[in-house]
Amino acid sequence: MSSFPAPAAVLFDMDGTLVETEELWGQALHELAARRGGALSAEGRAATVGTSMRTSMAIVHAELGLPADEQRVDTDARWVEDRVAELMGAGVQWRPGARELLAGVRAAGVPTALVTTTPRRLTDLVLAAIARSFEGSAPFAVTVCGDEVPARKPDPAPYLQAAAALGVDVRCCVVVEDSVVGVTSGLAAGAAVLGVPAMQVIDPAPGLVLRETLTGVGVADLGALLTDRETAGC
Ligand SMILES: [Mg+2]
Repeated sequence: MSSFPAPAAVLFDMDGTLVETEELWGQALHELAARRGGALSAEGRAATVGTSMRTSMAIVHAELGLPADEQRVDTDARWVEDRVAELMGAGVQWRPGARELLAGVRAAGVPTALVTTTPRRLTDLVLAAIARSFEGSAPFAVTVCGDEVPARKPDPAPYLQAAAALGVDVRCCVVVEDSVVGVTSGLAAGAAVLGVPAMQVIDPAPGLVLRETLTGVGVADLGALLTDRETAGC
């Protein structure tokens, strides 16, 4: 074993971090833009990554030159959610190294949480697929969804809620994230953050370590992120 402390818990983002669902969100958003008679640019699509459905709709509508309209936001948000549910039903793919890291964290006896901005209805579809590759058992002690928090990422609330539900000090936890808003949320909560950017550029920050993918990342690597935190009692 390494001399690094084990994290009190590992808190995982879902879309783009554990599973390739960002591609499904992208497909649904491009289809929505086409239905509205326009097209979504690569930059516009990238800006939606990790954001709430309402923020994503605002970005798409602004690109299409559509005036702000609450009813259109509701209608289109529902359409995108239904379309993503349909696409998720066909199955989801792990991000490189994600399944192995999650298995390693579980094998080390470190508690895990899933912390996602995606609503519960869609998250449960992904959780069912994830459980199938863990012999049917749910791999997370706690799951926090976007419709179950007082404020969404980049607010620290989702990660604080997960740490509280696990009964651990968030400063002794490691957050694993792929997006700017997710990394911002984890750092604001006080956790150490491992960033694996896929579709966005993430700037360096204190408390943040960036890796290209999760391939080869193990629980000892996560513990190494906490080495300067002995004063917090980690
Ligand atoms: Mg994400």
